[in-house]
Amino acid sequence: MTFVSTAKPPLTPIESAHWFLFQKQRLWVVQEGEKIRIPQTSDLKKTNLTPPGDYFFGMLNGQPCYAAELEADQVIPEAIRQMELRQVFRRFESDFVQAAGLAGHLLAWHRNHRYCSRCGKANEDKEDERAKICPTCGLVNYPRLSPAIIVAVVRDGKLLLARSPRFPEDFYSVLAGFVEPGETLEDCVRREVFEEVKISVKNIHYFGNQPWPFPDSLMLGFTAEYAGGEIKEDGIEISHADWFPPDRLPRVPPKISIARELIDWFANKG
Ligand SMILES: [Zn+2]
Repeated sequence: MTFVSTAKPPLTPIESAHWFLFQKQRLWVVQEGEKIRIPQTSDLKKTNLTPPGDYFFGMLNGQPCYAAELEADQVIPEAIRQMELRQVFRRFESDFVQAAGLAGHLLAWHRNHRYCSRCGKANEDKEDERAKICPTCGLVNYPRLSPAIIVAVVRDGKLLLARSPRFPEDFYSVLAGFVEPGETLEDCVRREVFEEVKISVKNIHYFGNQPWPFPDSLMLGFTAEYAGGEIKEDGIEISHADWFPPDRLPRVPPKISIARELIDWFANKG
């Protein structure tokens, strides 16, 4: 099971393809009893559905993947169920999740970058790469990608976890924030932790990464050690933060996220 992201479709057409169809930002999945799967070309034929516009975006298990955005009033066939992308992350294998995430990411880009941001004319899809080009002024526009750091800060065997006013009740996670122009990833880790809870960190190490298409982030995971200061929440991004030992962790994010991978790394390192 592999997914390869590419903008170049196979030279010989392949009859059967995976269709990642979004309607009002929810993905269509085929429900067969308890099982769910991504619609295939044959499913579309059965329902006489021709998606309005489609974008080839990669190969999954040797089959082409297309993304398309359906009209809001498109009638939903009986076997189809709609799913939020976050639910898809919980229910599907990682390669399908990667493909569905990229489909959602690219469709948002198509939706939001239809016109040239310099001269206002309608953009066209560039033929040789995944980009849009303005036919009037030539400005090229690539899919937006917003890098963000996420960091597990450890102090004497305890993990720094915080809750945002946006989180469900009793839910805590590691700190995260968007990278700003001109800063290194390590600068960003130091700045975000200090801005949000007034803690200084040291020994920053890369941990791993995860595309996070809500709507267009790439999460870059780090671990760090406490270097100084006492917790003082900023009151905006963070309403409460504390140091938690591995045997007394609060409610944390589900297994789909790098946030949880970082928390599990801490809980299992002994
Ligand atoms: Zn232009």
